[in-house]
Amino acid sequence: MSHIVSTLATLRETMAEACQRAGRRPESVQLLAVSKTQPAGMVDQAAMAGQRMFGENRVQEAREKIPLVQQTGLHWHLIGPLQRNKVKLAVQWFEMIQSVDSVDLAREIDRRMAPDRIMPILLQVNVGGEVQKSGLAPQALEPALLEIAQLPRLSVQGLMTVPPYEEDPRSTRPYFRQLANLARAMTALSIPGVSMETLSMGMSHDFEVAIEEGATMVRIGSSLFGTRDG
Ligand SMILES: *Cc1c(COP(=O)(O)O)cnc(C)c1O
Repeated sequence: MSHIVSTLATLRETMAEACQRAGRRPESVQLLAVSKTQPAGMVDQAAMAGQRMFGENRVQEAREKIPLVQQTGLHWHLIGPLQRNKVKLAVQWFEMIQSVDSVDLAREIDRRMAPDRIMPILLQVNVGGEVQKSGLAPQALEPALLEIAQLPRLSVQGLMTVPPYEEDPRSTRPYFRQLANLARAMTALSIPGVSMETLSMGMSHDFEVAIEEGATMVRIGSSLFGTRDG
């Protein structure tokens, strides 16, 4: 039995406990295994242990890795910054793009989709207001959403964030709460075709707090695969 089988089991248990603390059903939170910098063989091992959703932060790395993965039926999400000139490739390899942070980028994704395809997306919000982080400023979310909702080949499914790093994960709570509040505010606008069902927040260091604050998807890399170089 590979190491990852027990690591996954422990992780799912920890997630379920966080759900229980928050009075939520364990099925209400999905695990996105962040496989960046990990070889295809690691993805296969995780897949054999039952993991189905994987996240990559670089298009180039994903297009090299995904064809080498042998397990089938896996779902790939892009979670890293997307440059305009990589959009064409990105829509080929990913089933969801979580890192949409501008109307321009959304337009380009829409333009690159085949006529019969719809790309589910999340809007990335920079809740900490850190200059070095990507994401829409919270006050820019509503106007961007109103425009993006018009694009026929995109389907907005919710919000994503990478909050500032805090030594004590509990200090991250206000940022997670802010994202959940933003999702509620956007839901209240009742924009046709827009869902706020997915709240992608929480990483290895702080996913329990994120779940307590309403995350429906946690993105976990190092706790699952071990620490990485890059
Ligand atoms: C790397 C990464 C993660 C996973 O981080 P870990 O701390 O390794 O769990 C999650 N989200 C994004 C956007 C990332 O780039």
